[in-house]
Amino acid sequence: MRHVRAVLFDIDDTLFDYTGAERAAIVAQVSEEGGLGALASAGEAAQLWSELMAASYQRFLDGELTFRGQQLARARAFVAAVHPGGELLDDTAAAEWFESYRRHYRASWQPFPDAAPTLEALAAHGLRLGLISNASEANQRPKMQEIGLADFFSDGPLICSEEHGEAKPAASIFHAACGELGLPPEQVAYVGDRHDVDAQGARDAGLTGIWLNRSGGRSEADAGVTVIASLTELLPLFIASRR
Ligand SMILES: [Mg+2]
Repeated sequence: MRHVRAVLFDIDDTLFDYTGAERAAIVAQVSEEGGLGALASAGEAAQLWSELMAASYQRFLDGELTFRGQQLARARAFVAAVHPGGELLDDTAAAEWFESYRRHYRASWQPFPDAAPTLEALAAHGLRLGLISNASEANQRPKMQEIGLADFFSDGPLICSEEHGEAKPAASIFHAACGELGLPPEQVAYVGDRHDVDAQGARDAGLTGIWLNRSGGRSEADAGVTVIASLTELLPLFIASRR
């Protein structure tokens, strides 16, 4: 690996357990809203919510919906699946439903246990830290505060796609973060849970692309992408690169 002077991170499902919080929240929301309706199980509800999230979020990233709009679209589609044949939620009702879901979601926020110890160790070894996220700053800043990780990034870039204008895997979003660091991409690594959007995108932009695959499979990674199963593997990689 090349000599790395700064490490940039994805947030959701990399430092922050997004999937865990989303699953806990939708299960709580369904039970508060009177049950599963046409859905067979809590597992099916969580699966459907996750699929709707992926689809509506993609429409946000494609510029088809605002950040707010994708939240309402998700709420409307989910309630329609719980109560097929019922009336679609209007904007006010969808906003209320989503607010209630959001309260459950916020109550479930947690960092991954390996995040804080890794960030602390990297900083102690002189590595600079930053964040790139396909989301909005208004969403991500309070989240980083709430889960106790914001202080690690107080001197580093936080580049979000909504404000930047392009989403990962566009090279420009990686280069914007390198620019804020004042470092060439060759001296910067990017760590994320998506092989395509995060690791390949970073590699194609000239950074060291690192895929965090918490499920442990390494064989499916592309050439030029480093794979780790836990954030604790990062520091040894960077220390080895200095020798
Ligand atoms: Mg992610």
